[in-house]
Amino acid sequence: MNGHFSAVGDQPANGNYDHGCQVIDEEKEFNRNLNDYLQTMRVAEAGFNYHLISVFGSQSTGKSTLLNHLFGTTFSVMSETERRQTTKGIWVSKNKRETSSGTKMADNILVMDVEGTDGRERGEDQDFERKSALFALATSEVLLINIWEHQVGLYQGANMGLLKTVFEVNLQLFLKDKNSTPRSLLFFVIRDHIGVTPLSALQNTLIQDLTKIWSSISKPEGLEQSRIEDYFDFGFAALPHKILQGEKFESEVALLGARFTTGHRVGKGEDGAAESEGGILLPEYHRRIPADGLSVYTEGIWDQIVNNKDLDLPTQQELLAQFRCDEISREVLVAFDLLLNPLEEQQSQASKLGKAIVLPDLGTTASQAREKCFRAFEVQASRYHKGVYSRKKQELESKVDGRLKTLYQGQIAAAHKAGVAAFSEAVSNKVKAGQKAGGAYEFAEIVSNEKKKTMEIFKAEVDSLAIEGVEWTNFVSQNQLFEAELDEVSSKLRKDEIRRLATRVERWVKSRLGDAVGLEFNKLGSGRGGSGAPEEGQKPATEKDLWDRIWKVFIGIVSEAESRFADRAKSFDASDAEVDVGLWRLRRKSWTALREKIEEEVMEGNILLKLRENFEDKFRYDDAGVPRIWRPTDDIEGIYTKARESTLTLIPLLSKFKLLSSNGSPDLIGFIGAQPSGVEAGDEEDLTPIGGVDEEDGKSLEEEMTMLSENKRQDLVVRFKKTADGVYVEAKRSAIGGMTQ
Ligand code: GDP
Ligand code: MG
Repeated sequence: MNGHFSAVGDQPANGNYDHGCQVIDEEKEFNRNLNDYLQTMRVAEAGFNYHLISVFGSQSTGKSTLLNHLFGTTFSVMSETERRQTTKGIWVSKNKRETSSGTKMADNILVMDVEGTDGRERGEDQDFERKSALFALATSEVLLINIWEHQVGLYQGANMGLLKTVFEVNLQLFLKDKNSTPRSLLFFVIRDHIGVTPLSALQNTLIQDLTKIWSSISKPEGLEQSRIEDYFDFGFAALPHKILQGEKFESEVALLGARFTTGHRVGKGEDGAAESEGGILLPEYHRRIPADGLSVYTEGIWDQIVNNKDLDLPTQQELLAQFRCDEISREVLVAFDLLLNPLEEQQSQASKLGKAIVLPDLGTTASQAREKCFRAFEVQASRYHKGVYSRKKQELESKVDGRLKTLYQGQIAAAHKAGVAAFSEAVSNKVKAGQKAGGAYEFAEIVSNEKKKTMEIFKAEVDSLAIEGVEWTNFVSQNQLFEAELDEVSSKLRKDEIRRLATRVERWVKSRLGDAVGLEFNKLGSGRGGSGAPEEGQKPATEKDLWDRIWKVFIGIVSEAESRFADRAKSFDASDAEVDVGLWRLRRKSWTALREKIEEEVMEGNILLKLRENFEDKFRYDDAGVPRIWRPTDDIEGIYTKARESTLTLIPLLSKFKLLSSNGSPDLIGFIGAQPSGVEAGDEEDLTPIGGVDEEDGKSLEEEMTMLSENKRQDLVVRFKKTADGVYVEAKRSAIGGMTQ
């Protein structure tokens, strides 16, 4: 017999699983194709819905033949003519039969064909036997023990050595795993059953032998009293000689196959042994390793075994859980990335360009991606070690939520920015439209409407990001921040609006002053003071109270302007401080406007004309307003001198803003009032300094009130006199001319 390995049964190339998949090769190396095999066979996705069965027994006892018949597998078998060992290491194959003898078999039965051990040297034999037993027990629900009928009762036989090993290994293995102490089913298949000795008798003999073996093994501390039934259930079947009773063998195998369905425990029988209903595959035999982790788990187990390390299944299961949870986490994140990456990309693209983009439907897309990711993780990973699972779940959650947080913060920032811009634009547009339509618009109303609208849009965006039960997706404070910023923008817009209002009112003041002051100066043209006859009961206007009249009319216009300004500003919610500043500015600008108007009136040409008119009026008309016809006897010179002197008194009067009533300048300081506390940077920029009011300006009130400088005054006197002289000469000539006529 060729005790050594031949090329037959070598590890298949990837994807070629003609004879199943080799898990452990003859060099005791673990074969990493297992996962691929499980995926190809679609077992990997089955969760816990699979069954792992191993077969044990001496070499060439027809184990592989049995499995091939039971499960439709194609494990290599010894050719009947050559007779040499074929199975090497450990192979696995999925059951290819759906039914057996008319019964539906359990889903996803995986069978491990373990190399028999008889043909090798004793030391090496024992080593592999022990290792493969450990491996099978750590993973399999059912151990099929293949045995010839004639070996039953031969206590010293090779099978018994194997069973002793199995028992010892089992104790060693599950000593550590006190929490679960899984049971296994030892299922004896008695081959070449002749039929003379009934199965029940063989069964009894075997149980006696097993009990003897159990009592002979040394048990670890604390387990001295343990019984074999504490760890194992037993099952039995007998098969006729395959070659001699071919047909019967086939039908018996089919019947045996029909027992490979799931069953359940119904209680203990009279002898204390457990009884079950249904098939032989009880849930309690299952090692609870999810199918998608089977490959990693078995590899870890084998690594421990082959390196003679203490096999600690709970630790192995924890390590497996860590490994698989990480793997599953990566897998579910790939799907998550597919949904999130384009969004993240868009956002970062926009921010590179300095833009803020509000991604449509972000809340829905992101929360769905999140939910999908967590569900997918939960479905697969929750089958693993609970502690590890919940830790890894938290890790995944914080990763996913971290990504969402960044996205959401960007989204809120963008919505915030867009909202503020839209608000400010909408208000400006409405104001512009209102101005075009004649100024009949309510600024405060526009602001409050637009604010409400904008707040609603922002809130809807923020609300759409909320995920139920997720604390950090509650963005109440962002709503508050947004509102605060809108208020800030509103107050800026209101300032603009106040400025616009102020400009309008100032323009109005200017135009009113232009008319009113112009009128007062025109009156100077009439030498009898005032134009036309004085009204009933009113003192005729005199030139002397010119400034009193101007001041009065000025105060009147300004106070009307002030109340226009204040009313309007209050209508759009301007604060008292804002109104005060506006009024203060208005009074200053009004004074400046008045001064400019007066300067215009006293400009050389203008004033000279008025003085001449004034003089002519006095000179050419008598007191009754009748034009004089000069005769040589008239005191032309006397009338001339009187009229000239009278008009000349106007020049000092005009040169200074001085009230007749108080015999002094008007109370400009009191009129303008103290600078209000609400004045901000920029409020003063466009203001002309006022002498006596702005002390730091260096100009006195006296100067501010001076409308004609000393030089101009003298110049004016000279020019006026020349003009008057001309008129006198002309009058004189006309008197003489009249006489000669
Ligand atoms: P394994 O080494 O245990 O896997 O055994 P094999 O399945 O390779 O079979 C070894 C030899 O036993 C082969 O030549 C088979 O033809 C033969 N064989 C298979 N089944 C039976 C059986 O039921 N009875 C007997 N006597 N021989 C069998
Ligand atoms: Mg074999």
